[in-house]
Amino acid sequence: MLNDEELLRYSRQILLNHVDVAGQLRLKNSKVLIVGLGGLGSPVALYLAAAGVGELYLADFDTLDVSNLQRQIVHDTAALGVLKVESAQTRLQGLNPHIAVQAISDKLTAENLPNLLQSIDVVVDCTDNFTIRSQLNAACFAAQKVLVSGAAIRADGQVSVYDPNNAQSPCYHCVFGDGEEEGLTCSEAGVLGPLVGLIGSLQALEVLKIIAGFGEPLIGRLLLVDALSSRFRELKVRRDPQCKVCGVRHG
Ligand SMILES: [Zn+2]
Repeated sequence: MLNDEELLRYSRQILLNHVDVAGQLRLKNSKVLIVGLGGLGSPVALYLAAAGVGELYLADFDTLDVSNLQRQIVHDTAALGVLKVESAQTRLQGLNPHIAVQAISDKLTAENLPNLLQSIDVVVDCTDNFTIRSQLNAACFAAQKVLVSGAAIRADGQVSVYDPNNAQSPCYHCVFGDGEEEGLTCSEAGVLGPLVGLIGSLQALEVLKIIAGFGEPLIGRLLLVDALSSRFRELKVRRDPQCKVCGVRHG
């Protein structure tokens, strides 16, 4: 049930036919894991907290550095040196006291991910590291959890949704294989703050659509954003029957 304060707080999205009270209740009863509380994870966490996603799990083992503040808007200058999950947890609980926010500062591994994913409905990949992305994809596929993936570097961004419960949906490995060149991250190549804000906002939007059950999620589509020309492009992405992560699912 939603109390009067919640009905008022979420009234502008409850007003939308495709959300309504039923959709709001689905948001309240859902659990979302956000991996990475940096440039992408900041808007994801803020928007999902504000929208009333009932339980947010924040995973990041890093502490806040002054060079993060140009784009990682969930954090504050006063939190320099603090664990990002703790800084974000404080901010999100201040934003919305009706939700629960769990902070996970342990590294996510192939060993601890399966257990964590059991209770999660949707996973949002906001990391900037190909190895962790691949690990997360494999764990999500094994646990049959939807993965909302975003990335941004320099002036280029991309978003897609991988749904193991949809036979048409590729997984992250189907699309990106064993790797682009390893290692180049925002800290080395640079990135624009509003671009990660845009990509993170698109990720948050996909999560709301998937949980509340409206619209057309970015499944089988990879959305590319070119910040320099302000152009959006969409690529069809298909399941690879030979994929070593999801290829033998019906085998
Ligand atoms: Zn695959």
